[in-house]
Amino acid sequence: MIERTGKGLSFAKRMYPPRAIGTGLGFFCVLIGIWPLQPAWWTWALLALHGFVWPHVAYQLARLSKQPFRAEQRNLVFDGFAGGCWAGVMGLNPLPSVIILSMIAMDKIAAGGWHMLGKTFLAQALGIGLGLWLYAPPLFPPTSQAQMLACLPILLIYPMAIGLICYQVTVQLAQHKRTLSRLSQTDSLTGLINHGAWKDLLLREFQRCRRDNQANVLALIDIDHFKQINDRHGHLMGDDILRTLSAFLPTHLRKSDPVARYGGDEFCVMLPGVSVAQAEEVLERLREAVECYRHPELPEQGLSLSIGVAPFGGHLQSAEAWLHEADMALYQAKSAGRNRIVVAGRYGVMV
Ligand code: GH3
Ligand code: MG
Repeated sequence: MIERTGKGLSFAKRMYPPRAIGTGLGFFCVLIGIWPLQPAWWTWALLALHGFVWPHVAYQLARLSKQPFRAEQRNLVFDGFAGGCWAGVMGLNPLPSVIILSMIAMDKIAAGGWHMLGKTFLAQALGIGLGLWLYAPPLFPPTSQAQMLACLPILLIYPMAIGLICYQVTVQLAQHKRTLSRLSQTDSLTGLINHGAWKDLLLREFQRCRRDNQANVLALIDIDHFKQINDRHGHLMGDDILRTLSAFLPTHLRKSDPVARYGGDEFCVMLPGVSVAQAEEVLERLREAVECYRHPELPEQGLSLSIGVAPFGGHLQSAEAWLHEADMALYQAKSAGRNRIVVAGRYGVMV
């Protein structure tokens, strides 16, 4: 079921301006088309109501409906019926009738493809039949010069309005696509790159390092005894610490150094183009800074990091092997007592 605030309402909103433009311009087209018949006053009143009041009524009907999408579909079917009626009243005068019916068809295809057009086709045929039956006009009267001129505004303006709306929808879609793509790569708690995006990035960096023989250092960072922090202070405080650390990490790195939340309380960073010694220096400063940091609401709670470091090397067969080396180094850092950095292959304790 479509909610009032959901997809249906935006559909109705999207259809509102083209309907108002279409019926407003169509008014003049039909006015000149039925002029020779000199119909009763209520026909003129109906025409004015359809031209200038109906679009607003249609929008309100959709807006106030519990199912705006369905209501808007009914509006579109009514558009077809009403357009058909006027074409019938004009005795299917070729030019205005074809213009009105084709503009309605364009509108339906833009709104719901062939399916929508098919739905309104029957309503249009019924409308034509009703118009012919009620007014019995002469069939296919030749289009006069005045009728041709009255058709020009709708012929010129309406397709432009529909084109503009289609363009706006395309731009919106592209924006949504970019937002979705960004969200799919972002960790919702910390705003850092998420696990999946990190794996892709790691593979790309691994291939680049192999191709260009470039130095690069990978580090896995894990908060020590984070479970205890959660247990003592609650998961919300745990979340806050994860967010704080996520904001803290990039401040110790270069802007271009990728930082990701690998999962849980584990983070990944990459330091392209630096030596192991330089990476150790940077990460050591980070480790010390975190050790000195106190959360304003938990001044008694210390925080420390264990860090596993793995420089890129020609011996590595795959990105997974590189990550595995960093993981093993992290494991060593934990085993050796935590709050320290261990470099893969060296397994020396830094602190
Ligand atoms: P160690 O020093 O061995 O790393 O000990 P640890 O307690 O940190 O253990 P481990 O890294 O295995 O546990 C991570 C904990 O992080 C487990 C889980 O309760 C917690 N955690 C994982 N994701 C989240 C999260 O999104 N929010 C919070 N608050 N806690 C999380
Ligand atoms: Mg941990």
